[in-house]
Amino acid sequence: MSIISEEAKQIRRVVNETRLIDTHEHLQREENRVKSEVDVLATFLLQYASSDLISSGLSHRDYQTILDPHQPLEKRWEIFSPYWEKMKNTSYARVLDIAARDLYGYEINDQTYKKISERMKEVNKKGLYRWVLKEKAGIEVSLQDTLLKPKSYAFWKTPPAERLLDVDREFFVPVHRFEDFLLLQDRIDIESIGQRRGARIHSLSDLVRNLDAEFREFSRIIAAVKLWLGYRRPLRFEKATFAEAEQIFNNICSQKTFVRVDAEGVRITAPSGITLDEAKPLHDFMVHNVIQLAGEYSIPVQIHTGLHEGNENLIANTNPLNLTNLFMEYREVKFDVFHGAYPWIGECSALAKTFPNVYLDLAWLHVISPHVAREALTEWLETVPSNKILGFGGDYIFVEGSYGHSVIARDNIARVLTRKVEDGDLKLEEAKVLARKILRENAKELFLRRIGIQ
Ligand SMILES: [Zn+2]
Repeated sequence: MSIISEEAKQIRRVVNETRLIDTHEHLQREENRVKSEVDVLATFLLQYASSDLISSGLSHRDYQTILDPHQPLEKRWEIFSPYWEKMKNTSYARVLDIAARDLYGYEINDQTYKKISERMKEVNKKGLYRWVLKEKAGIEVSLQDTLLKPKSYAFWKTPPAERLLDVDREFFVPVHRFEDFLLLQDRIDIESIGQRRGARIHSLSDLVRNLDAEFREFSRIIAAVKLWLGYRRPLRFEKATFAEAEQIFNNICSQKTFVRVDAEGVRITAPSGITLDEAKPLHDFMVHNVIQLAGEYSIPVQIHTGLHEGNENLIANTNPLNLTNLFMEYREVKFDVFHGAYPWIGECSALAKTFPNVYLDLAWLHVISPHVAREALTEWLETVPSNKILGFGGDYIFVEGSYGHSVIARDNIARVLTRKVEDGDLKLEEAKVLARKILRENAKELFLRRIGIQ
């Protein structure tokens, strides 16, 4: 056995033994997961692979059928399998095969899909998360991005704010989006915040006061603030004055037209809204406000950049260079730039190289393209101080995906570090130190220490 392969083995051992701090997940509570109907199609195709299936030609109607656990599995497999053949080369598919193989005994094919599904149903009970996340994936804790429900006209059902952060502390710490404060377009949006906060909001001052209060209440609980707006608009947030924002707020409240909607069985009349373009000064103003408050409470800000989940998005909106003005203005805020801003890896390197407050996060990237993730990490290790590189964020809505992702992430990181040692760019001991920092210590330092998790 050569010296090099002994080094490779040692690096892999350190990488595999390190308990992960997972910077980003969207997992539902275990008690809800175990109540849901699971099978290999209904569960594994909730995200990511679904985008590749649709990109390969699957219709949205057929996708809905495949996802419906109440329809016969055989019938759904028949619709699914020709498209699986087309897209199973992608990393999104590979994650599913890894998860099915390691957790349920088989890779996915027409001989195994029923057996995998039976096995999934057997273990879909309390203890599933402990087994998958802790024992199999070796994740110590995950930052849980608490998704708000999509806008509902049934605003009286908006849950109170504390419920948003009600995560299972054995596995998660919460990240909060403050999202409903950021994209107001009609009076229902405003009223929903009022409902969930138990407050009356009739002016921009009322809105800002409630945002302040929400930060104060949650600042010791949340590990980070998440900015998700790149899914809806460009990430360039201009300066806007209170007066400009107030004008927009008042415009929203002064619409002269209305719509009638069926809100979960209740017919209501709701005021019309304004467009995102029209609302831009208000939204820019509120984003700056959120970042100022994050600075005041020393809470890091995680920002979605690059590729969007789902099909047919406006990718140019999420170029991370759009954020440069925020990085320059808010020096005291630590920004965690997500997903290598795929495909803008080089832009990320350049930003994090020069801005002390810019951190880079491989969340999701290992499964978008393992190859690009390895290239990104190779580049970042040569350009960016290692305390600012975060190596793993699962970014799944079902636990099996988080597991599959963790396998690829560990393999990627071991391969990059081994390569650097083999090339003589790193010493073995340095590589081991970097592995622990990238997979665990950097995230712990950035997100957990402030909220008292050692
Ligand atoms: Zn995410």
